[in-house]
Amino acid sequence: MSDVKVINSGKKYAHASVGDLRTFEGKQFVKDATGATSCEISFGSLPTGAEVPFFHSHKANEENYIILSGAGRFQVDDEAFDVAEGSVIRVATGCDRNIKCTSATPMTYICIQAQEGSLGGYTMTDADITERENKM
Ligand code: ZN
Repeated sequence: MSDVKVINSGKKYAHASVGDLRTFEGKQFVKDATGATSCEISFGSLPTGAEVPFFHSHKANEENYIILSGAGRFQVDDEAFDVAEGSVIRVATGCDRNIKCTSATPMTYICIQAQEGSLGGYTMTDADITERENKM
C-alpha cells in the first residue's frame, strides 16, 4: 500500500504526492494531505485480473474516474464496458459501480468525488488572467 506525503505548503496551497505511479499500489485518498474543500481525490491501482472487492454507490457525490495506465472493465449498475488509459468516466449518484483491471500491466487511476450539481463557473467563466512576476 502506497501512502501520501505532504511535500510543502503555504497559506494558499498544499502540495502532496503519492510518489511514482509506476510502483503505486492500493488506494490512497489525498484530501487530508492537501486540505481540499471542494472534492476528494484518490489514487488507485489494480493488478492484472483484480477488481475492487465490492460495488458501492454514493448519496451526494458524483465520481469522475480518470484511467492513467492499463485497461479494464467498468460497470455501472448492470452495464459493463471497456476502459483504457485516457478514459474518463463520470458516475452519477445513486448507482452501483466497480472497476476491474484486465491488462497485462496494472491499471492506475484517479477518482475525483465532488458534490453532484455543485459546479458553477469553470475555466474562463471562473478564471481571470493575472499579472505576476514569473519565478519558475
Ligand atoms: Zn466512491
